[in-house]
Amino acid sequence: MSSVVTSRAAPTNEATTVSQESKVIRDKDTPIDIDIPDNYVSWTLKNQKVRPPISWDNWWKELNYLSLSILTITPAIAIYGALTVPLRWQTAVFSVFYYFVTGLGITAGYHRLWAHRAYNASKPLQYFLAMAGAGAVEGSIKWWSRGHRAHHRYTDTLLDPYNAQEGFWWSHIGWMLVKPRRKPGVADVSDLSKNEVIRWQHRWYRTLIIGMGFVLPTVVCWLGWGDFWGGYVYAGAARLCFVHHSTFCVNSLAHWLGETPFDDKHTPRDHFITALCTVGEGYHNFHHQFPMDYRNAIKWYQYDPTKWFIWVCSKLGLASHLKQFPDNEVKKGQLTMQLKRLREKQEGLTWAPDSNDLPVVNWDTFQEQATKRPLVVIAGFIHDVGSFMDEHPGGRHLIAKMIGKDGTTAFFGGVYDHSNAAHNLLSMMRVGVLHGGMQHGLDDKRVPPAQRLRVARYTELSSPYASSTAASDYEGMLG
Ligand SMILES: [Zn+2]
Ligand SMILES: [Zn+2]
Repeated sequence: MSSVVTSRAAPTNEATTVSQESKVIRDKDTPIDIDIPDNYVSWTLKNQKVRPPISWDNWWKELNYLSLSILTITPAIAIYGALTVPLRWQTAVFSVFYYFVTGLGITAGYHRLWAHRAYNASKPLQYFLAMAGAGAVEGSIKWWSRGHRAHHRYTDTLLDPYNAQEGFWWSHIGWMLVKPRRKPGVADVSDLSKNEVIRWQHRWYRTLIIGMGFVLPTVVCWLGWGDFWGGYVYAGAARLCFVHHSTFCVNSLAHWLGETPFDDKHTPRDHFITALCTVGEGYHNFHHQFPMDYRNAIKWYQYDPTKWFIWVCSKLGLASHLKQFPDNEVKKGQLTMQLKRLREKQEGLTWAPDSNDLPVVNWDTFQEQATKRPLVVIAGFIHDVGSFMDEHPGGRHLIAKMIGKDGTTAFFGGVYDHSNAAHNLLSMMRVGVLHGGMQHGLDDKRVPPAQRLRVARYTELSSPYASSTAASDYEGMLG
């Protein structure tokens, strides 16, 4: 009896200790996704509570009025202002400059530094980026990065807060205008919670967006060249609209326009126009493949001012540990896509039958058949040259005299060393294989040039293990 009590008590104590221990650890630094189940995505998609579909009866209850106000009042001020306040050149130049400053706050700061940890930034640079990013009025670093990490982790699923599968306008702006239809998939941001700059920005966020979004640009234009209203309208409101839609394009345009040079599993794409619109975030196919790389564009001539900014900061000693994926792995991705496209081209062409597809015919049958139709043997294959005799550039007579004969030597240089194109074309006239005609030394002549290098799936390649069968056959023959 006592043993039963003991055996009961022991596991209970142990379980308590373990749970207390794990609780202590979890309270400190444990990432939020430490013990999510392996089937997290499918389980969540099935069981998560979602908001009802938006309809005429409920749309006013489903709107996100804060975002809606920011995203409608700002352009309204900009449009009204543009019609009533003349644009001075100093204000125009400053507005463009400030567009890049606040844009970089998002691309170099929020995105590449904090959401992806693509490099390390010194404290002064971090404060600069946190303030510049606040001037773009897109939420705090922590909120933004949490959503963006979910976007990468659950790309093209309903757990991606700006899922491109739901359409261009949804991923561009729609997702912000209504209350989130479901909670974005789990993504850990415990590293960001520990960062003093991020905590500082979070605490002062409202002051910062007003200060950096409107007060600073207005004051600069006012004190600089006496253009208070121009500063407010152009460097404040109009510039903010451009920054908003520029960065929104990373979620919409970058998942819609362009090529997929690294992977075509998901929607992200590379395009120069997207790069132009987004301060260099347009090489989004690369970015989703190699998200921790500080670059989006890997070629020097591609437009990626965010990369150039980070690089210059590193030269000035403000940034360090710029991460780059190994070039070897980047090239593998590119090659995979190139081979895939070549394979599609290859499958779109008609190829010559090989010896397994053709009847094997002995010399006597070949001779007999050649009296009825124009057959020529070349490199062990029997070809029906009837449709080609009149087209032969060297003249009909050269083919006619080879009918019923082996023209291998004549074809491969004895009379004329035929081109690759000629050899490829010849292979399309194959109708049979001559029994015993595949002598050694003809190997490269049996395979038409266009088929010597081909794109094959791994399942079509003979594996090194397959040779064991051949070896046992060989031994069998010897035996
Ligand atoms: Zn994306
Ligand atoms: Zn990203």
